[in-house]
Amino acid sequence: MPSPFDLTAALNERRQQHRYRQRLEQQAPAGREAIINGCRLLNFCSNDYLGLANHPQVVAAFKRAADQFGVGSGASHLVCGHSHYHHALEEQLAAFCGRPRALLFSTGYMANLAVIQALVGKGDAVFEDRLNHASLIDGGLASGARFRRYRHADADSLTSQLASVTTGRKLVVTDGVFSMDGDIAPLSQLAAVCDQHRAWLMVDDAHGFGVLGSQGGGCVAAQNIQQQVPVLMGTLGKSFGTFGAFVAGSDELIETLIQFARPYIYTTALPPAVAAATLASLERVQQDHFRREKLDMLIARFRQGAEQKGFKLMPSSTPIQPLLIGEDEQALRLSQQLREKGFLISAIRPPTVPEGTARLRITLSAAHETEDIDRLIEAL
Ligand SMILES: *Cc1c(COP(=O)(O)O)cnc(C)c1O
Repeated sequence: MPSPFDLTAALNERRQQHRYRQRLEQQAPAGREAIINGCRLLNFCSNDYLGLANHPQVVAAFKRAADQFGVGSGASHLVCGHSHYHHALEEQLAAFCGRPRALLFSTGYMANLAVIQALVGKGDAVFEDRLNHASLIDGGLASGARFRRYRHADADSLTSQLASVTTGRKLVVTDGVFSMDGDIAPLSQLAAVCDQHRAWLMVDDAHGFGVLGSQGGGCVAAQNIQQQVPVLMGTLGKSFGTFGAFVAGSDELIETLIQFARPYIYTTALPPAVAAATLASLERVQQDHFRREKLDMLIARFRQGAEQKGFKLMPSSTPIQPLLIGEDEQALRLSQQLREKGFLISAIRPPTVPEGTARLRITLSAAHETEDIDRLIEAL
């Protein structure tokens, strides 16, 4: 009898489109090199931008806390899973962001679902950049609010969208650094438009924290527009090198999330040792200016070298330096050829990016050395 669910057709279609996803089994810790199938590769696709995921102090903090507190948190934050490590990290993250409060989430995906659902619903409207991260798009769709997308990084397009909605609350949501393009949102323009239209601005700075700003405070700190961004979200699995996410804002915002945000309430708290490890990495993020300086130097070297070779780069000043390829099959083939030459670089294809914009998403890290960058440019 045929199965009532035909899963084969969609899987086959995905294969034919050269969009089939496969997971690699990584045999090395996060860092400069990956080991896949026993082969050593230079890793140019990790989000561990500052090289903290395997930092000895971060690992030691994790071990110490696990020795004291075990592994699992045992419950959600509202029941009995909220440890003093979680609490201390929230206080440190709030101070880091210059906000009264911060709230930890188990993942960035959940933080985005949580915030959007808690702030808008039926009768309201949410406005999103076309290139926002999938979790923001999903959060907007799941909220039940009217869902509008504006042209990428385009404050005029946002203005006309906002003007067309006259009732309910309005929430504007943008990536700070766009995760697949590496460019930075025009935050002060967006904030001015929000101000005119009585909308709230939420910034997801998953890729800006740690990397941008003199202390790693991200794009909001770098552009000095703290006052105009009432909802600031960041993740801990990228520059911080650990796991989880946070939202920073006013006391009322955080209390609203604690009371009403379902993806916050109905899930187990992060392991306390992850919070302890993040306290150690936050210290490195703030104090280790040399990591950001090295990263900036590597970014400049990559861009200069690639431009000399005639590559067309995207307008990115961040560690995300994609090479636009276009066709899915070609992007996949190039990624494979680079693998054979000893480089791990993923081919990012639709639906993660728009049709016809498959790319090699190259990411740089303070864990790289200048000769790694030079070898990459030669290989490209
Ligand atoms: C990675 C990422 C997230 C999701 O964070 P996780 O903690 O990995 O779930 C959200 N937003 C952006 C922009 C991201 O790049």
